Amino acid sequence: MEPTGKLGEHLLEEEPYCHVLLQKHKGTFCDRCFSRCDTLKKCAGCGSLWYCGKSCQKRDWTVHKLECKCLKQVLPKIPTDSVRLMLRIIITKQLDLPMNSPWSRTFDDLMTHVDEVRLDSERSEQFTKMLYTLNEYTGDVITLPSSSELLEIFGKMVINSFTISDGELNDVGTGIYLSGSMLDHSCKPNAVAIFHGCTLVVTATERIENFSPNKVFISYIDQLATYKERQTLLKQQYYFDCKCDRCTDNDYNTLMRSFKCPERNCDGAVCLSEGNEFLACRKCGVKEFSTVLKSGALKVQENCKTKLNEMEEMVKSSDWKKVYEMSKTLIQETRDVLHPMNVYNVKLLNKAFDAAVNEEEWTKACKYGEKNLDQCRYYYSKYSPHYALELFKVGKLVLYLQNLETALRYLTEAQDIIAVVYGTNHELYNNVNLFMNQCKDELRCNGDKA
Ligand SMILES: [Zn+2]
Ligand SMILES: [Zn+2]
Ligand SMILES: [Zn+2]
Ligand SMILES: [Zn+2]
Repeated sequence: MEPTGKLGEHLLEEEPYCHVLLQKHKGTFCDRCFSRCDTLKKCAGCGSLWYCGKSCQKRDWTVHKLECKCLKQVLPKIPTDSVRLMLRIIITKQLDLPMNSPWSRTFDDLMTHVDEVRLDSERSEQFTKMLYTLNEYTGDVITLPSSSELLEIFGKMVINSFTISDGELNDVGTGIYLSGSMLDHSCKPNAVAIFHGCTLVVTATERIENFSPNKVFISYIDQLATYKERQTLLKQQYYFDCKCDRCTDNDYNTLMRSFKCPERNCDGAVCLSEGNEFLACRKCGVKEFSTVLKSGALKVQENCKTKLNEMEEMVKSSDWKKVYEMSKTLIQETRDVLHPMNVYNVKLLNKAFDAAVNEEEWTKACKYGEKNLDQCRYYYSKYSPHYALELFKVGKLVLYLQNLETALRYLTEAQDIIAVVYGTNHELYNNVNLFMNQCKDELRCNGDKA
């Protein structure tokens, strides 16, 4: 059936043109279908790829046959994920296999952005390094295309690759989806790209009138970012200036950098313009603020931003104890200054939540999580996997803490969204269902006792 643009409709389902599992997940997920599996079998040739069964291994063999020889040449070294993806693209192109891209796109149709890549010193350097490794990696097994052709492939790869995530939004791999890469970006998307294994599924998160692929927008970046941060990131990564409905919505963008109104008994937001001017309180209208107050507020916001970046690094090394301590202190410092809608406050509570969960501080975690739900919903919109996952995580905690009725409310809302966005056959849906059943059982049990 042709999609019509209804809420929750799968607008596109597509197998990857090329994809690789991230090195860190080797041996946990099948290299071909990305299903999690305890009985993976190693490729006997290179010993580097793992499959859930014969059929996955067979399907992958067309491309892996040559990749396998290349991998053997450089053992025990393993090329980076991006070098591996690049080689897979080169092999796939040379094999010229029939592709079933739902919107009939070919690899040649993708934009190369070669001129921008040439002017981009970071990416140019990345390309030079990649050329070197590719030569070593392929040796006599594959004749590489000319370097100008390789630059085109590289440009297409870096601009068009999708990060493939599992149901809980953890990164699992990267891949190229020929039809999927037709979709444009908006900071106010009307669709979301999720994955069933390695299959890309694009779902409408609101009604799309007169549906056609060019009316579908997904967000290429995390939506929890200020106007300037979004513009910078999109320019750096994708070479364009975003002029979407959100980027031209001043009220929305200034709220992301808002402070608590200093007036007694007012909980309004004093927003910051792009030029760092303090705007009148949205509730009581007060607009005169002392210089000391203004510079103090700016300092708190700046410090919060810096510390969030530091915490991001600590997360990478799984130093959760430190993140937890730091986030607690930071919450104290920002509590009276940043408005709850301030995007750094939202990010801080998210971090504090994750850290508290890792430190098994359930009550604290619950408090941070519940406090942040409305903001997550506002910035991500209701039918977003991010909001649904927050609800699910908080729901599980509340259930654990035996606040059963509230838990059931959160879990039910999470499940409703997951049914729309992921569909009822996704493992995440079943996962939520388990907790809902547990919750209902305990409620029934309590009812019987009473
Ligand atoms: Zn598999
Ligand atoms: Zn192999
Ligand atoms: Zn935008
Ligand atoms: Zn006010």
